[in-house]
Amino acid sequence: MRVYLSENAFMDLLLSSAEVYKSECLGFLLGYKLEDRFIIEHAFSLQTASRKLKGVKSQDRSHKQIEPILARFDRLQIIGDFHSHTQFGMYKGVPHPSKEDIAGMTPEQIYLIVAINNNRKTMIWAENRDSTISGSVDNFFFKISAYFINGSAAVRKAKIHCPFPPGF
Ligand SMILES: [Zn+2]
Repeated sequence: MRVYLSENAFMDLLLSSAEVYKSECLGFLLGYKLEDRFIIEHAFSLQTASRKLKGVKSQDRSHKQIEPILARFDRLQIIGDFHSHTQFGMYKGVPHPSKEDIAGMTPEQIYLIVAINNNRKTMIWAENRDSTISGSVDNFFFKISAYFINGSAAVRKAKIHCPFPPGF
């Protein structure tokens, strides 16, 4: 499984996770799914997510209010969600799904985790061999992973592809 992140979605993910840094953000991914790939066009964070330092409450994931608007854009659908994992005390945020994250996954959807930590080194943005993408912006270091549930209900990693905008 592959995930194609648009430049817009990439920017959204960085901004959403940096804005609430030290808390976690949560949002929906908009795009479409083809047989072997997810195309993510937009990522928008949920204002209604009640943020805790560690973890965002999952009951805020209903999309009743935005459903009528989404229905007007037939090419785009909610194809999954994203949230950030951030530094917590001495523990760095890592882009691995927690038990709760996995329990909240359903088939045919894609789930992105944005690990965001402080880092003073400049790291060039790249698609990594472990299927993630990572890089730094100013003092932040980001590492983004994608997961999905396959036919036998196992959690699998998808490979992320992203056309990094100039300067990244
Ligand atoms: Zn999580």
